[in-house]
Amino acid sequence: MKALEKSRPVEGLWMVRAPVPEIGPDDVLIRINRTGICGTDIHIWNWDDWAAATVPVPLIIGHEFAGEIVEIGSDVTGLRVGQRCSGEGHVVGSDSRQSRAGKFHLDPGTRGIGVDVQGAFAEYLKLPAFNVVPLPDDISDDIGAILDPLGNAVHTALSFDVLGEDVLITGAGPIGVMSAAVARHAGARHVVITDINPARLELAAHVVPSARTVDVSREDLHDVISELGMREGFDVGLEMSGSQAALDQMIEALVMGGKIALLGIPPGSSPVNWSRIVFKAITIKGVYGREMFETWYKMIAMLQHGLDVSRVITHRFDVDGFEDAFAAMRSGQSGKVVLNWLE
Ligand code: ZN
Repeated sequence: MKALEKSRPVEGLWMVRAPVPEIGPDDVLIRINRTGICGTDIHIWNWDDWAAATVPVPLIIGHEFAGEIVEIGSDVTGLRVGQRCSGEGHVVGSDSRQSRAGKFHLDPGTRGIGVDVQGAFAEYLKLPAFNVVPLPDDISDDIGAILDPLGNAVHTALSFDVLGEDVLITGAGPIGVMSAAVARHAGARHVVITDINPARLELAAHVVPSARTVDVSREDLHDVISELGMREGFDVGLEMSGSQAALDQMIEALVMGGKIALLGIPPGSSPVNWSRIVFKAITIKGVYGREMFETWYKMIAMLQHGLDVSRVITHRFDVDGFEDAFAAMRSGQSGKVVLNWLE
């Protein structure tokens, strides 16, 4: 089969021929239809410090996918050949305290497909049946291929009650933009999304026209707060950028007792003004991955009833054009980039 592999510990990715994976009794084999390119894949392409310390070489990368089940392990029940699906890319055990409490997304032994174990950028993927999420007919393969990052957005945006609340999102990358759509869908009053990249703010306005976009290099957030008639600041903050300046700005712009969900990853250790957080009585929650499988359940339910994130996909390529696809992603000017694996 064709597969996109990190073959050597240097910049780049290579299209290779690899054997079709052999499945175990608890696995399924999935023929891949579409895949999404993640920021994680760009780190692996670039071979930065994180990738060099984390990713074993050689490895088939990729974890955002939609496909169809073509083979089922002998012990698998409840799934069938021909079923369309996506799936959770974190492979977890069942022994840890958190797993045994049903909080699989908090299993400390989690391994990631396309990061620690063979991934989804291939014609076929082996996946534990436990991780499979069947796709209803009204969810396309393109959307199926971005459920993983949409899940990050949903997990973050639903971390705190946003109904009737004013929500500030810092970082208008694809996940930030999708989290704005989710906050809106979940009943937030004002949704404000900030960035310093005009292309990303344009994407945000295109996907969520009712959100107020703010280029914080040109506009003062306080002016936006008064423009919207807000008196005391934002109730909930979703930090999606990993930028120290954005987090500082968010803490300033929150109400007393405000809440922050942190998905963005700051570089190294960042200085934080803890006294400001204490005196404002702010709650902070770190967000990792998606809840298995509550986030998947909620996002599919929302997609079937009015949540529309389709415009976040800005580029589509056949997999043989993967170099152009990665170039589009690396430019910082794209939304989600989807690869087609079908002939
Ligand atoms: Zn991803």
